[in-house]
Amino acid sequence: MAILVTGGAGYIGTHTLVELSKAGYEYVVIDNFCNSDKKAIERVEELTGKSIKLYEGDIADCELMDKILKENNINACMHFAGLKAVGESVEKPLMYFKNNVIGSIKMLDVLIKNGVKKIIFSSSATVYGEPETMPITEGFPKGETTNPYGRTKSIFEDILIDTSKADSEMTAVLLRYFNPVGAHESGRIGEDPEGIPNNLMPYITQVAVGKRDILHVFGDDYDTPDCSGIRDFIHVTDLADGHVKALKKIGVLPDGEVPADTGVIIYNLGTGKGTSVLELVKAFEEANGVKVPYEITDRRPGDVAVMYCDASKAEKEMGWKAERNIEKMCADAWNWQKNNPEGYKG
Ligand code: NAD
Ligand code: UDP
Repeated sequence: MAILVTGGAGYIGTHTLVELSKAGYEYVVIDNFCNSDKKAIERVEELTGKSIKLYEGDIADCELMDKILKENNINACMHFAGLKAVGESVEKPLMYFKNNVIGSIKMLDVLIKNGVKKIIFSSSATVYGEPETMPITEGFPKGETTNPYGRTKSIFEDILIDTSKADSEMTAVLLRYFNPVGAHESGRIGEDPEGIPNNLMPYITQVAVGKRDILHVFGDDYDTPDCSGIRDFIHVTDLADGHVKALKKIGVLPDGEVPADTGVIIYNLGTGKGTSVLELVKAFEEANGVKVPYEITDRRPGDVAVMYCDASKAEKEMGWKAERNIEKMCADAWNWQKNNPEGYKG
């Protein structure tokens, strides 16, 4: 029995492979490397001491997907593959709908035809839109997504919900990530964005390592205690562990399956604690003894002021809780960046 991990060479995928190995699971990876490097797979092999069965290709390639499912004894799929840059999705919406929605539908069709009906999907807090109150529970209705990327996540969630309604054997876990940051504590795998980082933590680490001059803090006029935006940052290893717990929750164990609930289950994966942009900068400087020069600039269009979750459902139902604090997130992010200033290209 093995888990099919789509997008397994990416940031969250690689960390999840390491946690899957630790928990004793076998897996097979498909990735087209459109946003990742083969070295990431080698590093996971180094960390786990096991060679990875890798298929290089697109999830939309039905023939390849069928071949993977016929060649391996797959019982569940962790679906990380997708494009994730919000700004790019505004410029190239069709590329995002084609890759994240059409690609995922094609993949799902082949999975179901081959009897693989347990799916764990990388969704996002962005599907909640801009709720009026915090913390966000899974009971909150989905909101107005502000960009095509967010819509691809919301649409594929709905597709999994409808597919599960039509097939009583289908089980889909929708994991709504808050803000994944940090890296494996070995410093061997981590986040390796192409070009200018869109996200806060990789921007901070690139300023700290001297690759960029200054951090732009987007907005100091939010209705928050220090007037900068607030997010729920979660260590990527905790997030990865949430995926392993989700597999167990749906009855997929390393050595086989046990009966479990079917249908759609939704979990927020966050710490439940909000940290402001300025607090994160300060925590990073203190944890690592480095300076992160910054300047305040205008708000980034589409940004919400505050987002943090209530993560108690995941704790109650799957025994999962984020264990690593902001200091650990900052220390591990820095450990990765300073040891790999050019990411996997170095
Ligand atoms: P990533 O870009 O590092 O990893 C995604 C991987 O999928 C890459 O290796 C890429 O090459 C691969 N891929 C993309 N399209 C593919 C396709 N059509 N066929 C085969 N492989 C393909 O991203 P990540 O940060 O690891 O995110 C993983 C998932 O989690 C994504 O679906 C993303 O939207 C979602 N997510 C990420 C965040 C975040 O902040 N990182 C937050 C919420 C949700
Ligand atoms: N942010 C910032 N400067 C940057 C990148 C992000 O001030 O270079 C802020 C952004 O406005 C938000 C927070 O950091 O308040 C988290 O942004 P990120 O893009 O990492 O995640 P998001 O929550 O937007 O998906």
